[in-house]
Amino acid sequence: MLVIKNLSKFYNKKNVLKDINFQVKEEEFLSIIGPSGAGKSTLLRIISNLEKQSSGEILQRKKYSKENPAIMVFQDFSLFPHMTIEDNIAYGLKMRKVSLEEKKEKTQYLLRWFDLEEKAKNYPTELSAGQQQRVAIARALIVNPMLLLLDEPFANLDKNLKMDTALFIKKTQKEFGITTIMVTHDQEEAFFISDRVGILINGALIQIDKPEIIYHQPVNLTAAQFLGQVNTIPFAYLSFFHFSSELQATIATLDKTEHISFRYESVSITPDINGPGEVIESLIWGKTILYKIRIRDIIIGIYVLHSSLKVGDKVIPTLHQIINKRK
Ligand code: ADP
Repeated sequence: MLVIKNLSKFYNKKNVLKDINFQVKEEEFLSIIGPSGAGKSTLLRIISNLEKQSSGEILQRKKYSKENPAIMVFQDFSLFPHMTIEDNIAYGLKMRKVSLEEKKEKTQYLLRWFDLEEKAKNYPTELSAGQQQRVAIARALIVNPMLLLLDEPFANLDKNLKMDTALFIKKTQKEFGITTIMVTHDQEEAFFISDRVGILINGALIQIDKPEIIYHQPVNLTAAQFLGQVNTIPFAYLSFFHFSSELQATIATLDKTEHISFRYESVSITPDINGPGEVIESLIWGKTILYKIRIRDIIIGIYVLHSSLKVGDKVIPTLHQIINKRK
């Protein structure tokens, strides 16, 4: 339904979007993730017509119109401070020829869906960040947009709220069947919520695919490293590892002159006084423990959920999964 073709953007001489190509399917939830400054907001603004590309095209099956607009929800929510929640949500219908009855019915439905009925008569400043965000999305949905554009929807939410919010946005998007493009640097939430994810780094879209493919088969090391910590070791060091049964066949097919990359969470360790690895550092890293393990003259990082291993303990590392060969 939406085709982005050879899209580039220059600010003065700075090339902030470089020959971007992708398609968005009807009712799809597509996220574009990338570090700060990668060009995500610029891309979203161009798609929403707030900004013009320097070259390239955006082809749409149907043009956005007043009846079916592309609506952008900004990260600061941009609610009208002097209007009640109810009026904020209903605002989009004001400009449209909608009967009072229909307006009331739609607003009530959205207040209910977004669990905001009790806040209908309150003002935005009286709501939590999570509630304000729900108002912002409800306000966008009331006009039945052809395309919903979300700019960093989790940026103003605290960590505990993010997961619930992501689940709720996903449920809402499917319920209303609205094609959605989200840009965010919050990769976990993007993975959780999206049908497909694109990685934008330094103005270039380096991969776009289903979350599980992006995570386990990144196109290159840059993509892999953006999504999490990666160890890269010479092939010969695999002799110090055990392998999960699924991995054994793959290892046999690898080029022995290559380096091997694997994520920190793709290794497990078992204590063994004759093990080739030695724990040299142990740190609490959020919900996981980060171990640094020395194997001869290399050091690898490992994430584990539970372990009582201490610095100096000897271990056998078992590799469960590798990512594609280094480019
Ligand atoms: P992101 O959303 O990924 O953080 P942006 O799209 O905001 O990235 O910005 C991409 C690059 O374009 C940055 O280097 C930024 O400084 C630059 N940029 C964004 N908007 C403008 C503008 N209006 N004028 C000049 N440079 C801009």
